[in-house]
Amino acid sequence: MSCPKVLEDAIEGLYAAFSRYPLPEETMPCSCCHASDANALLHAEPLRKLGWKHLGEYAKDALLVWGGLEDFKHFLPRIFDLLLNASDWKKGTPSPERVFRRFHNGEWRTWPHDEQTAVEKMLDAVWETVRSNPPIEGGYIDVDQWLCSISQCKDDLGPYLNKWMEDERLSAGWALSSLILGSTIAYTGPDHTMPASENDVERIAKIQEWFKLPHRGAWWKRCDTQYAQLQEWVRSPAALEKLRRAEIGCGNAEMVRELANAQRCIRRRGRRSGSQFTEIDSTRRPIGNLQLIGCIERCQLGF
Ligand SMILES: [Zn+2]
Repeated sequence: MSCPKVLEDAIEGLYAAFSRYPLPEETMPCSCCHASDANALLHAEPLRKLGWKHLGEYAKDALLVWGGLEDFKHFLPRIFDLLLNASDWKKGTPSPERVFRRFHNGEWRTWPHDEQTAVEKMLDAVWETVRSNPPIEGGYIDVDQWLCSISQCKDDLGPYLNKWMEDERLSAGWALSSLILGSTIAYTGPDHTMPASENDVERIAKIQEWFKLPHRGAWWKRCDTQYAQLQEWVRSPAALEKLRRAEIGCGNAEMVRELANAQRCIRRRGRRSGSQFTEIDSTRRPIGNLQLIGCIERCQLGF
């Protein structure tokens, strides 16, 4: 994600709020899950110079099988500094949803007020940045994943969706078409559980069928409410209208096609709303939105 001022400030806010937690001598990684030098890696460089090769494994397992809350709070600013500034996937990079899940595991709503405020500001800055940038070519975290990451911390996506609806910038409309065309949000049903049956043979066949259907990302499993909220919003007439406004106002033939395709996905899904799941429309990505960056200059689009 490219790093505008709002994100930069939020990251500095994390460094300031959590600076009271000193570097722990021993972080106690579980010896069956991690190598014997795991703790030493966390001490290899000063905090602001640590990279994923030092922090990647820790960020995945902190609070679960590696160290306590105060240890995590020491490393937290650097972990999110790395994650929010990452423009491409490198070896050792953990999934963003998994890293954001640490807030849930650490029960961040019980933390001191200034620490919670710093985290809130970071979440707001992430969302502002997602809405104000065109999807990044080669970026490894998409709109669906950012929303899933925020959902690991927040029980209610409502305020984020309201901001999105009010945001009339073309970039915000593009983020919406990117979500629709780049994820399964338009195609998944309300029931995400694997089928169960008494009869084994029948069950295997049903499960095989189930696997052929479109599914949401695995981390949404922990955030059913937020997913339902997002899905309802994405399929609402107001969201459709938002795409339509972006289509009319964008003044670019390639983008018109993309925004029109996103509307088509939603409308088609609406006509088949009787079924739990719908097969993904294989024609929905005639131009991948990531490819668009290559052929359209940012300045032409007014970002
Ligand atoms: Zn272990």
